[in-house]
Amino acid sequence: MKKEYIIAGNWKMHKTVKETIDFVEALEEKVAALPQNEAVEILVCPPFTSLCAITGKSQKIKTGAQNLHFEEKGAFTGEISPLMLAGLVDYVLIGHSERRHIFKETDEDINKKIKTALNHGFHPVLCVGETLDEREAGKTLSTIQTQLDQGLEGLGVEAIKKVVIAYEPVWAIGTGRTASPQQAREAHAFIREILKKKIDSPAAAEDTRILYGGSVKPSNSYDLLSQQDVNGALIGGASLKIDDFFAIIQDAYKLVDE
Ligand code: PEP
Repeated sequence: MKKEYIIAGNWKMHKTVKETIDFVEALEEKVAALPQNEAVEILVCPPFTSLCAITGKSQKIKTGAQNLHFEEKGAFTGEISPLMLAGLVDYVLIGHSERRHIFKETDEDINKKIKTALNHGFHPVLCVGETLDEREAGKTLSTIQTQLDQGLEGLGVEAIKKVVIAYEPVWAIGTGRTASPQQAREAHAFIREILKKKIDSPAAAEDTRILYGGSVKPSNSYDLLSQQDVNGALIGGASLKIDDFFAIIQDAYKLVDE
């Protein structure tokens, strides 16, 4: 089966509105020079403040939010409602490890956010992954299983099919330490097996996009993206540098053509 990829940039708390516009314009130009290929989707998730400035401006680059609140409105100072994101994004990152660990989001919060995102027509990107302690204690797979079970709890088959999964080992995020292709392949295969059971259709579960995230950069992207069950990358640091991000996009283009 021919692979399809999502190459997504998570910009975290980086780039002003102007920097975002400049980046997207420059990236659009670079991508336009590549042969047309629908099998590679490009996504950037800038800070909320930049979304209005870039949404709909590019044919080739989709936009995502880095978070959302599960309620539509109310006394939630500093939070962003799904109603405010409507028309601005296709995707929403949910349960990123920085949200889990710094902002203490629980699997229960994440499950509510996934449901809210789906109810508002966004594709949630559910981020899962183990800490270094969990990996060293042999708990990688059980951590992933729990995060998927609780994050997707109560969702029907059709809803689960709309979710994108990002496997992001916490020890590899922003550390320069990347999972080896084999570690990524094993975790992705495990996630695929879980999805097959939840979706109850091996064929449909093959269509779920499972992204790898954790210090992806041009020097390792080809190897990671070429692994079975790796359908793209969620990229932090390297997505802020246009040449690096574009080099990773080019790797995905190469792989869909092979
Ligand atoms: C991320 O923020 O999701 C991420 C994977 O960051 P980095 O690529 O910098 O490790």
